[in-house]
Parts: sequence; C-alpha cells; structure tokens
Amino acid sequence: MSVEGSGADDVVLGLEGFCVRKARQVGGEVELEVETTAAWAWCAVCGVRAASKGRSPVLVRDADVFGQPARLRWIKRRWQCREPACPAATWTEQDAAVGPRQVLSERARAQACRRVGREGHSVAAVARDLGVGWHTVMRAVWDHGRPLVDDPARTADVRALGVDETTFTRAGPRRRTRFVTGLVDLDRGRLLDVIDGRAGSAVTGWLSARDAGWLSAVERVALDPYRGYFNALVAGLDAPEVVVDAFHVVRLGNQVVDEVRRRVQQETLGHRGRKGDPLYGIRRLLLTGHERLSDRGRARLNAGLAAGDPHDEVFYAHVVKEALRAVYTAGDETAARAALAEFYEAADAADTPECTRLARTIRRWETEVLAYYTSDGLSNARSEAINALVKKTKRVSVNRPWRGLWVGGPPLPGWRGRYCWERRWEGCGGVSGGEGRGRVRGGGVPWGLGASEPVLAALGGS
Ligand SMILES: [Zn+2]
Repeated sequence: MSVEGSGADDVVLGLEGFCVRKARQVGGEVELEVETTAAWAWCAVCGVRAASKGRSPVLVRDADVFGQPARLRWIKRRWQCREPACPAATWTEQDAAVGPRQVLSERARAQACRRVGREGHSVAAVARDLGVGWHTVMRAVWDHGRPLVDDPARTADVRALGVDETTFTRAGPRRRTRFVTGLVDLDRGRLLDVIDGRAGSAVTGWLSARDAGWLSAVERVALDPYRGYFNALVAGLDAPEVVVDAFHVVRLGNQVVDEVRRRVQQETLGHRGRKGDPLYGIRRLLLTGHERLSDRGRARLNAGLAAGDPHDEVFYAHVVKEALRAVYTAGDETAARAALAEFYEAADAADTPECTRLARTIRRWETEVLAYYTSDGLSNARSEAINALVKKTKRVSVNRPWRGLWVGGPPLPGWRGRYCWERRWEGCGGVSGGEGRGRVRGGGVPWGLGASEPVLAALGGS
C-alpha cells in the first residue's frame, strides 16, 4: 500500500522544512519518503546560485508513528556550484533534523536518550527496539543528555541539600563493593550529581567547584550519620542546618537488634540461625515497628524471646530500638528530648556492647537528630527514591553484561552503528560494538567513564 503526499501527512510528519512525497508499508514499518521544501540553494563558498545535480536517498530510523516503527527515506538534493573556479564544486543538502552520517533522526535520538535516562531502560534494549547498534544509542544518550547534565540551571538555587551514599556495585569474586555519593536537591527532588566513593574529600572537592553564591544559598543539609560527610559539608558550606536522616538513624537501631540477635543465637545454640530456631523465627518481627504488630505477631515475638533469649539481651535491644524510633514520633522537640533521654536510659539498662555503642553514636549526633524538628522533618527520603533510579540504572548497565545480545552469533565486522533493517537482533546476524572485545557491554552506562554518568542516565532527556 502506498499513498502520495497530500499535505495532511506533512502535518503528521512534523518536521519543519520537509514534506512527505510518499508513505508506504515496508516489512511492518511505515516508510515515509520525504524531501526538503527548498527549491534552490546558494553556494556557501562563493554565493552563486547553485544548480541541481540530482538526488540521492538516505535512510534513517525515525520516532514511531502511531505506535508503528517508522523510517524516513530522505531524497536528498545534490547541488553544484555554477562557478567553474569555485572550490565548493558539489555538495549534498543538510538538515538539523538528520545529522550527517546518522542512522537515527535527531528526534529519534532524543527519544532514545529519554528512554535510557528518564525511564531507565538499558541502552541495549533501546538499540534492539530501534534496530540499531549499541553505540549508536549510547552516542545519542551522550549528545542529548550531556547538555542537560551540564546545564547550570539544573544545579542552581539549591536550598536543601541531601547527601547520601549508595552502593554502585556489590562485591564479587573480582571486585570490591563500590560506593558512590549522591547529592540531591531535596526541595525539587533532583539528583545533582553522583560522586565516586564515599569519602568526605569527594564532597569537599565537589563543593569547591561551586561558587560562593551557591554555597551560601544552601540552608539545610540532610545526611547519613557519617562524620566524613558532616565535616566536608560544615567546612564547605555557610553554616547550614544539619539534619541526620531519620531513615538512617532508625536503621542503626535495627542493625543493633540484628547484631544482638545473631550474637545470642551463637551463644545459646552455637550456630547461625536457621529454620526452627526461636530467634531466627522472629527476626522480621523484631524489626517491625511495635505499633504495627498484630496480637498474633506480639504473641509470637514474646514466645520467641522466651524460648531463645535467656538473658533478655535481644529483648532489651528491641526496647532500645523502639525507644530510638519514639524520638521521631514524639511530635515536637521537647517531647523528642524526653524520648531521647528515655532511649539513653534504655540503652544503659540493656548493658550490651551493641546498645552502648549505639547510645554513644546517637549522643554524638544528638543536635543533628533533634534538628529533625526544627528543619520541618527534612529527610533524604526523596534522595532514597533517586537512589532507586540510580540502582536501576546500574542494574541494567554495568552489573550485567547483556549476554542476550549474542543470540544471533558473534557480531559481524562492519556492523558498528549501521542501520539494521530487521528490528530483531536474531535477524541481523549480531550486534555492533562488540568487535574484538570478546564481550558486549550491556546497558545504560559504560563502566568507568567518570563520575557524572549515573546522573546522565538518571536525568535523560527532558
Ligand atoms: Zn561556489
């Protein structure tokens, strides 16, 4: 089926300076034959009006049309300078809608960047959908994502800054756990940057790249209870109000419950917890907020403690954890201070090394814990949500070389970046970009390209 251009299809095409000559279905795709509306041209070198020198078609993948894959067949005009002495001789017309030697139109490239960046799809998946090589999509992510990341407006006017560490890759047989530090604008819920490592010096370095106006505008900071971050932020910023993130404080309490439970488990039964052990059976109940337990849950918790906790150490750790949580449910600062005093008392009474250590930590951070109330509950909850996106990004990228790409056999030489007409890898004999490397890297962010890549991926095109 084929339709001649009618004018209405130009509206659907939506590319300024282009009109549709023909539309047809080819192999389940819409192929739009287009040309520019330019009737003449002038030589860029000498300014003489150029003569037509025929046409040559160029095929590019475009954004989908009404849910159908689409490609443009651009019948490019060739021009020739009429001035025999002019060095320009002949040239082919160019347009910003389709970059020179590109296999994707610019809007298809922008869309690819959005899918990788904003929606967290792997580069490989986008490449597969578009039927192009991995590097073709990755270049589009770079070209369209970079300006967004580098846009100074993106990091301007931050009043509440969240600093939060997250694991980027977990330890494996060949590598150590790798941490990154995320910096978040807490008011806008926007990831500002991801810095390699979790050292205070990394934060210091990042802050030193901001100007004085930026630094003095930051009024409040929420962070993990980690001195390295604290020192870097207090030294680098203009006296911000510092809040220790509630989530992390409560997690410290949960960690103590877990540690005590494991120790008592070992001391009483001489082995790690397993099915049937009383403490192992209540390990989740111990971490559940007490107010959220059902009557049955409470009965099970009590029975488990009665059977497995002869010296009430786990019980007290649980009480201490709940006392710490009560600081955040107290309602106002005065009540929180009272709750904190009760927490110290409970930790004292527990008299276990784990609880004593927790009390010491909280005492060191007391001001920043109570700042939860003066800062209107500032927390890193939003940066945690962004961490989830960062994690999704790295999950679809660095951690899992995308072996599925090899379905069609090893890549053929010369496939790099070339348009692959079949939309399925199986049909095109492999993928681009893997030549000579032995393995195809999978997805969103190539490993080791620098600190801003997760940001790039997390932001995408907008
Ligand atoms: Zn000329």
